[in-house]
Amino acid sequence: MFRNFKMVSKVVFGRGCFSQLGDILQEQRQGSESVMVFLVDDVFKDGSLENRLPRNADDLLVWVNVDDEPKTVYVDQLVMQVKAHMAGKQDSHPSGVVGIGGGSTMDLAKAVSLMLTNRGSAADYQGWDLIKKPAVYHAAVPTLSGTGAEVSRTTVLTGPQKKLGINSDHTVFDQIVLDPEMIADAPNPQRFYTGMDCYIHCVESLEGTYLNSFSRAYGEKAMDLCRDVFLDSPEDADDRLMMASYCGGMSIAYSQVGICHALSYGLSFVLGLHHGIGNCVAFDYLEDYYPEGVGEFRQMMARSGIDLPRNLTAGITDDQMKTMVDVALVLEPLWENALGRDWKTVMTREKISDLYLKM
Ligand code: NAD
Ligand code: ZN
Repeated sequence: MFRNFKMVSKVVFGRGCFSQLGDILQEQRQGSESVMVFLVDDVFKDGSLENRLPRNADDLLVWVNVDDEPKTVYVDQLVMQVKAHMAGKQDSHPSGVVGIGGGSTMDLAKAVSLMLTNRGSAADYQGWDLIKKPAVYHAAVPTLSGTGAEVSRTTVLTGPQKKLGINSDHTVFDQIVLDPEMIADAPNPQRFYTGMDCYIHCVESLEGTYLNSFSRAYGEKAMDLCRDVFLDSPEDADDRLMMASYCGGMSIAYSQVGICHALSYGLSFVLGLHHGIGNCVAFDYLEDYYPEGVGEFRQMMARSGIDLPRNLTAGITDDQMKTMVDVALVLEPLWENALGRDWKTVMTREKISDLYLKM
């Protein structure tokens, strides 16, 4: 079976296009009492962004905190907050949810919009195609580029038992606003780590067994753009990085990531390491599997003056190691993409823990 995959319905791209957000949302507002919910990364709380939000009187602004990557309990809490805001209003649901921030905030916006129309806890829907009802309209404005969360059909959440996305056609954004000015102030090393998420998506997609021409077209373009940004310093680096993230996301939509992502999920679940930095930590030890990619990654790292943290697994317990390996192994499609159908004969628990021990 070929995947019939859902794409983002509307995309606006360009420096300054954020100023069109009000007009874009206006089309979605129903009636005078319409409510928009803005979920905005709290890193922008004391800046000028608040005054630029196209808010109506009844709209709800929530500053979200992403010091920890999104958890299902946090999503449930945000949903309650939105429902409380809607109590007594004409409409039971808001007209839309807008996420403004990096991958974590975009994922929160996706999850909240889904959980406003689907019963229960976000944890009940971690997996593939478990969502039954369409979400409320949801839009994103990325302020960091690299994850591809703006185009993907998943929202990655840490639940009580697992770190796993809510993968569904309904997860995909209805609208994305790609304004390179919004990522201009993202500081290093965060900009680098998130950018490398895109570069690693490309390596894993292009080196994977699931590769096809669709993925290759996007993956090669995204990789070229990453090279422009991280091995050179073009004037329009932010524009290129934003499009790299978009193309990198499109590339894995029709293929899969690989070993680095599987290991990074384990690091994140047990050590709380964020996705971008976790990927960088793991990728640096994957020379045997992705020799050219790792070589180029090191050049990019040197050029950006990045020092990776080391010895992260030095003090971990046997139980923690077991959990880390378990979390990585759950992601079977990633291993299969990287190593082929017989991956279980190649990648043993021991090999995985040896890799972790190096980190
Ligand atoms: P992030 O959203 O976790 O943010 C990282 C840090 O950067 C935070 O402290 C945040 O406050 C800050 N930040 C964001 N924008 C900023 C800006 N413009 N200036 C200064 N600081 C800024 O980072 P990320 O790397 O974009 O996202 C990682 C998250 O994305 C993880 O939770 C991961 O699971 C998720 N992810 C999702 C997908 C998907 O397809 N849904 C894919 C990959 C990763
Ligand atoms: Zn990633």
